[in-house]
Amino acid sequence: MIKTVKFGGSSLATAERYYKVAETVLSDKDRKFIIVSAFGKRFSDDEKITDMLYRVYDCVKNGQSVEKAYGAVFTRTAEIVRGLKLNIDLTDFFDKIERETEKNFTLDFVLSRGEYISARVTAEFLKFDFIDAKDIIKFNDDGTYNGEFSEFLIRNTLSGIERAVIPGFYGETAGGVIKTFGRGGSDFTGSVIAGAVKADIYENFTDVSGIFACDPKIAFDAEIIKRMPFSAFRRLSEFGASVLHPDSVLPLKNTDISINVKNTFRPEDKGTFVIPDNKFNDYKIETAVTAKSGVGEITILKYNKTEKYDKNLLDYICGKVSIINVSSSADRLTVSFFGSAGEIAEYIYENYVPDSVNSRDSLALIYVMCVEAEAKISEIYGILQSRNISVRNVFCRKEDYGLFIIVADSDKTEAVKAIYAFERKKI
Ligand code: ASP
Repeated sequence: MIKTVKFGGSSLATAERYYKVAETVLSDKDRKFIIVSAFGKRFSDDEKITDMLYRVYDCVKNGQSVEKAYGAVFTRTAEIVRGLKLNIDLTDFFDKIERETEKNFTLDFVLSRGEYISARVTAEFLKFDFIDAKDIIKFNDDGTYNGEFSEFLIRNTLSGIERAVIPGFYGETAGGVIKTFGRGGSDFTGSVIAGAVKADIYENFTDVSGIFACDPKIAFDAEIIKRMPFSAFRRLSEFGASVLHPDSVLPLKNTDISINVKNTFRPEDKGTFVIPDNKFNDYKIETAVTAKSGVGEITILKYNKTEKYDKNLLDYICGKVSIINVSSSADRLTVSFFGSAGEIAEYIYENYVPDSVNSRDSLALIYVMCVEAEAKISEIYGILQSRNISVRNVFCRKEDYGLFIIVADSDKTEAVKAIYAFERKKI
């Protein structure tokens, strides 16, 4: 059996937490390929290494010496290395990083050093091989990810290796330029490795026991979702749940590899299984409610408008914002989107000769993942009405396993709480 395992930054923030990580990894010989984020926060006001590295980049750009700029990162690393009683010559280690930074001074290179450092420390501590992501994760020269070549290299490199630690988040172009996947990108690296080595499972360790069915700050009794299909996870993470990167399911979409989100500090908890859609058929969708602010809506009235009129308007709106929903009738086009409506309404009014334009900002989108979403529309509508929450729009998509509701942003929290409480009573 092969398990690909990723540890988030909070699991690697102190030496003490490293011991917990080692216990988990070493207790199961199938945990072969370990992907790591950079050291995370030790306490809530602390700074992640990646955020410190943004400052390193700025300081060097503004003329500070590379040695001085890396000072705080050196200190954090030294604290962990000392706590783990590792025999690493940090002065020499950082000297090399600093010389390389001088040679390849780009933001992506500097940011990538966070994962490089944590992976080197983790490999040393676990006594596993260190495989640099730059040798197996490849980007095209235009900065896009080259999946096919990466998978080939991963398979070739890892096939002869018993157990290894690999930094998440970055890779390299054929021309030797380091590129990153963007914030939270180590989750994606984990999926790529899991897919390429045909892992039996991809375990993603974080500091919570899975993905909550509702934000626990809103619903104190929120449960952990046991299982959900990739498509529902995409919607849930797109619209509010942030435990795992939304793109992390993409490299696995044509495989039968599931992602198990688990808690480093409570490894005995089962966590959440995020399962490829084609493997989910035998399970029942559990209820989850999430919400995202920043929604705008615009309604254009134009008597006897043509299809071409709609097309031109939508082309314009698509170029400006990310559309959530469109509904059209002979005289009216209503579009909701993430973005601000005021500026768009003004432009349409001046350039598309409508009979009228109405716009509304400060709305929120609620996503309710549930079974038989169509049948729930009227019930949920009733619940919101009874709390004086007016629904701007509601629509349902079977492929997304759920229901979408647009309400005023000021009603968002109350609406989420009410819907989750109502659904929970039925479980
Ligand atoms: N260290 C990077 C970040 O903080 C990437 C990651 O953790 O996945 O976003």
